[in-house]
Amino acid sequence: MTSAFTNAKRQIDDVADLLMAEYPDRKLFKKAVEKLKRPQRVLRKSLSLRMDSGKIGSFISYRSQHNDARGPFKGGIRFHPQVSEDEVKALSTWMSIKCATVGIPYGGGKGGIIIDPKLLSETELQRLCYAYAEFLTPYIGPWKDVPAPDVNTGGREMAWMLEAYERKIGYHAPATFTGKPIELGGSLGREEATGQGGFYVLNEYLKTKKLKNKKTSIAVQGFGNVGFWFAKLAKKAGYKVIAVSDSSGGVYNPKGLDVEKVMIHKEKTGSVLGLYNELTNDELLTINVDILVPAALENAINKENVKNVKAKVILEMANGPTTPEAEEILLSKKVDILPDVLCNAGGVTVSYFEWVQNLHGYRWTKEHVNEELEGILEKAFTEIDNLVKIKKISYRKAAYLMAVKRIIDAMILRGRV
Ligand code: NAD
Repeated sequence: MTSAFTNAKRQIDDVADLLMAEYPDRKLFKKAVEKLKRPQRVLRKSLSLRMDSGKIGSFISYRSQHNDARGPFKGGIRFHPQVSEDEVKALSTWMSIKCATVGIPYGGGKGGIIIDPKLLSETELQRLCYAYAEFLTPYIGPWKDVPAPDVNTGGREMAWMLEAYERKIGYHAPATFTGKPIELGGSLGREEATGQGGFYVLNEYLKTKKLKNKKTSIAVQGFGNVGFWFAKLAKKAGYKVIAVSDSSGGVYNPKGLDVEKVMIHKEKTGSVLGLYNELTNDELLTINVDILVPAALENAINKENVKNVKAKVILEMANGPTTPEAEEILLSKKVDILPDVLCNAGGVTVSYFEWVQNLHGYRWTKEHVNEELEGILEKAFTEIDNLVKIKKISYRKAAYLMAVKRIIDAMILRGRV
């Protein structure tokens, strides 16, 4: 399987040819594209951690700062055994594209530690967050790089990292991290923001296709923060969520699942299994459903399993869940792929609102947050949908076309190429 970063670079190349005609100075444009395919800086450190047993453990950590031509770097921090330099580089590239797609003033960043956090005690995890934030302190800040949660991190980890960062710099700077607990300056609506954003995109898309929600069936791979909120909001609006899964497998009911009940069960038992008929993760990806929502990790739909995918629409809530090879096959079968850089941009958009509130020492209501979020995602969807229709290209190509142009224009205006 090709690496996530190779996929990210290929996605940029795919639109560069289409954009070239808009730039009279082709040499300059080509230089800018090459620059855009390389992160500006990749930080790596082996963090030493005193374990509860008294022994010293060491854990490899990264932060990739991809491109800050449009604003400070922005992106999550992932704790996972599969974290790698290649992965953070890919995810930071996608963050640059995502922020430009929805028009918020950031570049892309991403960080991670190679660790299964379930193997650490709470105090070990806290010390690891402190050590990571201390390492990052010279490179982050409200106008430099603004980290946030990602897979296996959340408000608790952001609070610890903020504490370590502020201790080092000697003053309060809550706008350095987003996704914080409300008590520490987090925004109302951040927890559900990514799922909420995907739900707005789903509604906009279905409006253009004149499909009815009650008849539309949905399967969600990955029942974590993003998958749960998306499924919950979709169910509430009358869509039929027929299957969900987590790393232990999935559950299925053709009549529709009670999404909240599945979450309560998962919180009690640690997995979604037990309440309904069960299916494997591979089966979930290939069941007969209108809309398939990958909301777990990269490369979920790949050239090995794509031929069995029956959904007519893929709504990407995870980052990079469809490989380019799989995408080619799906597009040839006229499957619409609503891309990650649009569908899951709700998270970074509400992070942006959190940063704005922190910089001004102000609090927005949840209604205000959701109203602003809907406005931003509706506008981005309409711009992309218009390009799809005018240029007869895929939704991903349309989003990339818009985003790559915005970033390259900013790079050229700054004289970086
Ligand atoms: P999370 O850790 O809360 O949830 C991940 C879920 O995926 C868990 O339920 C896990 O069991 C499941 N999972 C892992 N491997 C799986 C597999 N092979 N098959 C099925 N399920 C599997 O993480 P999250 O925050 O919900 O993030 C999910 C995805 O969304 C990631 O790709 C992340 O980068 C992306 N994303 C998250 C946010 C956010 O705000 N949290 C924003 C944008 C994008």
